[in-house]
Amino acid sequence: MKRQISLEEISDGKLYDSNDMVKAGCNDCKGCSDCCRGMGNSIVLDPLDIYRLTVGLQQDFETLLQDRLALNAVDGIVLPNLKMTEEGEHCPFLNEEGRCSIHVFRPGLCRIFPLGRHYENHSFRYFLQIHECSRNQTKVKVRKWIDTPEPAKNEQYIIDWHYFLKALQAYAEQAEDEKLLRTLSMYVLKQFFITAYDTGRDFYEQFYERLREAKRALQMEE
Ligand code: SF4
Ligand code: SF4
Repeated sequence: MKRQISLEEISDGKLYDSNDMVKAGCNDCKGCSDCCRGMGNSIVLDPLDIYRLTVGLQQDFETLLQDRLALNAVDGIVLPNLKMTEEGEHCPFLNEEGRCSIHVFRPGLCRIFPLGRHYENHSFRYFLQIHECSRNQTKVKVRKWIDTPEPAKNEQYIIDWHYFLKALQAYAEQAEDEKLLRTLSMYVLKQFFITAYDTGRDFYEQFYERLREAKRALQMEE
C-alpha cells in the first residue's frame, strides 16, 4: 500500500540493509500483542504468505477465506489480508496467551515489524518505524530479526512481487472500466493465490513460472 507520509516523520531517518544492526529487538514481545490487534485490513499477504499458511495449517486458500482472511482492494488490485476478529478486533491467529499461534509460518509483514520497506530503483532497504512498537530498544541484525530462510532469494522475490503489483496498480489508477479491473483482480487472485502450489517443489521456482506467465498474458515487459 502506498504511504503518503514522509520517512522522516515515522522513522529514525536511517535506512538499513539485511546485515545492519537495528534497534528492533523487543524482549520477545513478553506481555505485549499490540501489533496483532486493531490492524484493520493493513496486514496484506503475498503469495509466499499464503503458501506458508496453506502448508502450515493444511488448509486451502478458500477455507482460510471463510473466517481468517479477507479480500480487499489495495490501490485498485484485490489482495488477501489477515481478517481481525469481529469480537476482539485482533488477529485470528493470536492465541489466548496473547502469542502468535503460527509463529513459525507467520506472514512476512509480521516478520519484519516494526521495520518497514522503502523501495527505490528496483530494490529496497528497511527503515525502523519509531512510533509503532514502544519496546524496540535492543539492537539486532536485520536478517536475524526477519528470520526467513534463503534471505537473498526471498529479498529478490519481495522486489519482483512489489514491482509487478506496482505496475498493475499504476494501470488500475488510470483504468475507467470497472469490469476490466475486476477481471484483472480475479486473474491475479487465481494465478498467485487460489491455484494451489505444489508442496513438493520449490515455492520460488513456481512463483517465477507464474510471474512469467502473467507478464506474458498481461503483455507486460519482462
Ligand atoms: S508492539 Fe512490539 S512488543 Fe508489542 S507485540 Fe508488537 S513487536 Fe512485540
Ligand atoms: S499472524 Fe501472528 S504475528 Fe501476525 S498479526 Fe497474527 S498473531 Fe500477530
